[in-house]
Amino acid sequence: MKSHARVVVIGGGVVGCSVLFHLARAGWTDVVLLERDELTSGSTWHAAGGMHTINGDPNVAKLQKYTIELYKEIEELSGQATGVHITGGVLLAATEARMDWLRGVVAKGRYLGLDLEEISAEEAHRLMPLLDPKQFVGAVRNSEDGHLDPSGVTHAYAKAARKLGAEVERFTKVEDIQRLADGTWRIITNKGEIVAEHVVNAGGLWAREVGRMVGLELPVLAMEHMYLITEDMPEVAEVNRTTGKEVIHAVDFDGELYLRQERGGMLMGTYEKANKPWSEWSTPWNFGHELLEPDIDRIAPSLEVGFRHFPAFQNTGIKQIINGPFTFAPDGNPLVGPVRGLPNFWVACGVMAGFSQGGGVGLALSNWMIHGDPGFDIFAMDVARYGDWASMRYTNAKVRENYSRRFSIRFPNEELPAGRPLKTTPVYDLLTARGAQFGVAYGLEVPLWYAPHGVKDEFSWRRSSDFPHVAKEVATVRERVGLGEISSYAKYRVTGQKAKAWLDRMLACRLPKPGRMTLAPMLKEDGKLIGDFSLANLGGALPVNGGSTGGDQEWLILGSGIAEQYHMRWFEQHLPADGSVYVEALGLKLTGLSIAGPKARDVLAKVTHDDVSNAAFPFMAIRRMDIDMAPCIVGRVSYSGDLGYEIWMAPEYQRHVFTTLLEAGEEFSVGLFGGRALNALRLEKNYGTWAREYRPIYGPVEAGLDRFVAYSKEADFIGKAGALAERKNGGKYRLRAFVMEALDADVIGDETIWHGGAVVGWVTSGGYAHNAQKSVALGYVPKEVTGEQDGFEIELLGRRHKARLQPAPLFDANLERLRG
Ligand SMILES: Cc1cc2nc3c(=O)[nH]c(=O)nc-3n(C[C@H](O)[C@H](O)[C@H](O)COP(=O)(O)OP(=O)(O)OC[C@H]3O[C@@H](n4cnc5c(N)ncnc54)[C@H](O)[C@@H]3O)c2cc1C
Repeated sequence: MKSHARVVVIGGGVVGCSVLFHLARAGWTDVVLLERDELTSGSTWHAAGGMHTINGDPNVAKLQKYTIELYKEIEELSGQATGVHITGGVLLAATEARMDWLRGVVAKGRYLGLDLEEISAEEAHRLMPLLDPKQFVGAVRNSEDGHLDPSGVTHAYAKAARKLGAEVERFTKVEDIQRLADGTWRIITNKGEIVAEHVVNAGGLWAREVGRMVGLELPVLAMEHMYLITEDMPEVAEVNRTTGKEVIHAVDFDGELYLRQERGGMLMGTYEKANKPWSEWSTPWNFGHELLEPDIDRIAPSLEVGFRHFPAFQNTGIKQIINGPFTFAPDGNPLVGPVRGLPNFWVACGVMAGFSQGGGVGLALSNWMIHGDPGFDIFAMDVARYGDWASMRYTNAKVRENYSRRFSIRFPNEELPAGRPLKTTPVYDLLTARGAQFGVAYGLEVPLWYAPHGVKDEFSWRRSSDFPHVAKEVATVRERVGLGEISSYAKYRVTGQKAKAWLDRMLACRLPKPGRMTLAPMLKEDGKLIGDFSLANLGGALPVNGGSTGGDQEWLILGSGIAEQYHMRWFEQHLPADGSVYVEALGLKLTGLSIAGPKARDVLAKVTHDDVSNAAFPFMAIRRMDIDMAPCIVGRVSYSGDLGYEIWMAPEYQRHVFTTLLEAGEEFSVGLFGGRALNALRLEKNYGTWAREYRPIYGPVEAGLDRFVAYSKEADFIGKAGALAERKNGGKYRLRAFVMEALDADVIGDETIWHGGAVVGWVTSGGYAHNAQKSVALGYVPKEVTGEQDGFEIELLGRRHKARLQPAPLFDANLERLRG
């Protein structure tokens, strides 16, 4: 084994081997993979080998498609057979609700380039004669499904990587990892040491153990998973004989089952409700090529459904049941990327569908390591979507929930209960008492809407039980004054002598003067967005951590709560080494409330001695202010697009401020509003939101944020050259707002936009704008697709609905309310 390498990849499962291959293919050939046993000695060897392109997140779906297309290349390069059989498959719906979901999948497939087609249950039966069409209401045909040989694929990656110059060391167990003073990593193995610039944890079943070597507790948990293989079946032989092909794949969502042909019989895998985690706290090092004891009782309810839906199974014997463990992150998506606080330590783990996702994970990670950017929008797989709050017990609860719902429908208004409540703000019980229905963001309970006694969400693709109540909350804001909780925003305090200069480089906007705020896009090196914030020059103290640092040395950045770890990682990667700038994510050290609506100023004036007239406290002003007895920071801004204020306070004051505002607002008939009302309010202002409209694949011109980019400012901000180039060439897409003719359902995101009979774009978010009484969709279309107001269609629940471009906001287009 060599003593130095540019990269050490730990783990010779399908994921580690893919990472190795992708690094070598991109030209990083001084790379070594360390495997404690033979390759495939974790989850990989006993996988069922199924692969498919569909995923709830379109960006992950794209990488799945890439993975499947890659197998030909690695087979040719390595000379190692991968056993890939593209059989095609059917995705089956036993209920109308499932069929609605599948229609959405087909629509998404149109702009992702996936070959999906809605078909009848009878047609599905013709394609896959083992199913009983009476059990299903419809299906989708997918031409890209198939299966492969897990061991063959893993070895093909490894052999191809070796041919390109990479090395693989088997029977080499990593026992410790140490960070050296020069920033490199010392990897201590049972066969000696190796020093590397970069380390990749692709430890699969042992990813937690490898993480712990560097003080990292990764939110992954292994689950037992079973599939059965039947004796040879005459029905299978008949299909093979008459079609000359294998029986195609099937995913039976309502049965939570997947099926494919295995030799002369069938393979059926289950995601059972009564699932079982494996090795909950640590994975034994002596586990290798063994299987777990099958437990047929546990999967019996799933098999019952399976045998009913696929009657041929009733006449055959079970030859073998495989039970093996594999790991999941709390939401079932992989954990990929650089780890905050551990420079050049990377993870590629929690990959639960290694044969659909392994190639994409390897490509994205290698891009990231080599070019500083994954090259795709992979937030859904980014390890930074979790923070310390994703503890082991939380992970355990969420993974079990996710496993039991692997193929279940999640309705747009459905909030999943496991692992909650975890983080709550001081007003949580006060909001609960007033009917708050909570969702969760970055582990924090956030009020979505307020339900009258006895009313709750009825899960649906269509407008549901919350609709009239959210409408009332919207009316409260637009007609009087609403009070909302905004603690879920991410809040960063930036201080230090060089804070101003640092922000000027990090953010693309012009920095505000003391006491002012501005919208602040943050760009990556390539000029695309990596953040969209409000930036406040506090020029004074926050009521946390004490002490004023004076003008221009204390700043507050407000951003998306779910991206806190993501943005902190970016900030810290760019901090000067001399300690002259300090960034702190305040989390719940700073809580927030917002008042919005035409009477918001009247309410504020009652509870503070400050002059809050428009002249004294105009739009985008921010200052310290006591709200009754509580020291707060108040910004004259509101995401509702109305006259409004965001009020920030240390958590110990939040209840006091909340009750003070409610009492003061009584004479104006103040009411509470939640996240769903806020969504309806921002939609009629055409306001975008991070992780929806604003993502790292769009430039500021495309996203309509260019007016906040100070192209001519002196500071050489990150991404300036890319931003200037985008301004010159106009980018590819434009974010547009649409009003669509919808009847009883509104878009949620990822729907298809048509123009002139062709698919031209995709929806990023939308919903019903109650005040304007219009169904609104925001989405990206090519920049050339402009001009006519009409002629667009948006595909929703399998039907194309007429849509019209809505360039001017439906509410307060001339900003009188906002600035008045
Ligand atoms: C029963 C079953 C059926 C499945 N069916 C499918 C399917 O049909 N399709 C699909 O896509 N996926 C399937 N999977 C999931 C699939 O197996 C996993 O997604 C995949 O194997 C994960 O690969 P990995 O490389 O991340 O992890 P692993 O395969 O666990 O690999 C990790 C490797 O790292 C090595 N390692 C760990 N720690 C160290 C160390 N300290 N030093 C050196 N080496 C170390 C281990 O020995 C191991 O070889 C199935 C899983 C099971 C259990």
